Amino acid sequence: MTAFTPASTSAKDAQPSAALDTETARRVLRAQVAALYATTWSSTLADTVLAWALCAVFYWRLRDPMVLVWAGLHLFQLLRYPLFSAYHRDPQAAQRSEFWARRHSRELLLYSSIWGLAPWLFMPVDNLPMTALMMLVMLGLSSAGIPSVVPSWRSVLSFVVPMVAGLITALAWRADAVHLFLAACSAVYLGATLHFARQQHRQLTDTLLMRFEKEALAEQLAQQMAVTQRASAEKTRFFAAASHDLRQPLHAIALFGAVLEKDLQGRPEHTHAARLMRAVHALGTSLDTMLDVSRLDAGVIVPELQATPLNPLFQSINQLFASRADEKGLQLRLRASPLWVHTDPALLQRLLANLVENAIKYTPRGGVLVVARARPAAVWIDVHDTGIGIAPEQVEQIFDEFYQVNNPGRDRTQGLGIGLSIVRRLSELLGHPVQVHSRLGGGSRFRVLLPTALAQELLPAAPAEVAREAGVLPRRVLLIDDEADIGDAMAALLGCCGVALQVVHDEVLASAAFTEAMAQAAPFDALVCDYRLADGADGLDVGLRLRTRFDPQLPLLLVTGETAPERLQRVRDSGVPVLFKPVAAQALLAALAALRRAA
Ligand code: ADP
Repeated sequence: MTAFTPASTSAKDAQPSAALDTETARRVLRAQVAALYATTWSSTLADTVLAWALCAVFYWRLRDPMVLVWAGLHLFQLLRYPLFSAYHRDPQAAQRSEFWARRHSRELLLYSSIWGLAPWLFMPVDNLPMTALMMLVMLGLSSAGIPSVVPSWRSVLSFVVPMVAGLITALAWRADAVHLFLAACSAVYLGATLHFARQQHRQLTDTLLMRFEKEALAEQLAQQMAVTQRASAEKTRFFAAASHDLRQPLHAIALFGAVLEKDLQGRPEHTHAARLMRAVHALGTSLDTMLDVSRLDAGVIVPELQATPLNPLFQSINQLFASRADEKGLQLRLRASPLWVHTDPALLQRLLANLVENAIKYTPRGGVLVVARARPAAVWIDVHDTGIGIAPEQVEQIFDEFYQVNNPGRDRTQGLGIGLSIVRRLSELLGHPVQVHSRLGGGSRFRVLLPTALAQELLPAAPAEVAREAGVLPRRVLLIDDEADIGDAMAALLGCCGVALQVVHDEVLASAAFTEAMAQAAPFDALVCDYRLADGADGLDVGLRLRTRFDPQLPLLLVTGETAPERLQRVRDSGVPVLFKPVAAQALLAALAALRRAA
């Protein structure tokens, strides 16, 4: 016996189903079978009423005992109804769709054959009105029942063919012209009924196929998205771990280098030290760029939107890039603008700096122009260049991480391929869309769309610039860091600046240092903690605990090479100032001075 498959009645039907994957085919079959059994109770009831009414009329008019024989046969078939209804009690029905499809068609074959016997048993030979009544009932029944069996083509055939074939053959058997004519009409009716039933069946099957294919596609998409999200989380974790491991030694190198540079001041070897520091600085910048991505992904950076004049922003970008443009012989122009926008100035500066840096990098000759234009309720900042341009098919991808158009060998000197991915993140964070218009060989224009500053933001007089106090460094600092190298390097650096640094490796030693300092009446002015201490101890918790215990007012500074988003979030939530490794000597001194001022 061939297996029941949806739309499985001909080679033509079999083609689309062959292309389907088996899971979709199974789902279609399940839905078809459920539809077949959904109507069994109401159709059996209607059929029984019709059959008994027919028997009553025929027996009343003809008194033919064969009517009672047929009624008995119909009753026998009716008693088999529990075989149908068992479907609704079968807990495995969904898994046994083929079995139930076969049973449905078998039971219909028996039912239809019993109906097919009716004209043979009690259709009168010479009573045209009664013959017409029988034809009316049987042909009417065959078409009225089609909708409830149309989900399965096999059930359609089992339901219609034996019944109508019984009628046609019984009519033809009478062999006179009238009956032969009626037989021919019934045969045409049978053909037409099957034709329309077939069309309905195909439409229904196609609809189900489309529905389940769509569902399967949606499921696939959801799975792929889950895989992508897992991969992205994995990438962030890897990034964070690698970045942390690199930061630790680089931090020490930066601090030692700064000490070395100071020591060699005025000697010929100083140039080497200065070069070394430049290389360290470049490496630190690369790591910072990666850290920027981690922090933007982690949502650690929260924009502080405010009314911002564009002119000072343009000036500082000009200062940053003027010498680089000059070295390449390019003209860099940032056209002065009186416009104000509603943005976070520091983040907007980073966004624009990335665009201008690229514009200079990818422009061999000509120039770069940055210009702001006022639009109703908006300001556009355009960064134009006369550079190499970007092919249309690349424009979408250049904002992806590590995507570089012409750097298959990943030459570091040509960049990391991260700049524009940071631009994308910043643009999303600030809500400033970035548009690109570029032509290969014909230059590029990156446009940032910003909201103009709100009127009420501009009304109050701009506060006077806060005077910058000279940073006063704390005198005694306690550092908790389990890495001896870093402790030594920091001690050397701070020592040069007159800061006495005591280094301890863990909380217990730190407690002892505090107790001793208090006993000698020489308390610490600041506490600096590494975030990740030995044995998994958490520098933030340790610092906060020590502060609560010994001096709740003591300024606390965290230093970390951590880039894992959830940990960064934790540090941010604590409100404790943090420096990211590798910390440049100047940044460390500035942070310590700021701590002192805040205390
Ligand atoms: P990177 O500059 O470090 O390679 P980015 O993410 O900043 O990485 O840029 C990605 C790619 O987009 C670059 O490799 C470059 O091919 C292309 N690109 C970016 N800005 C420009 C520009 N102004 N002109 C031409 N190409 C550009």
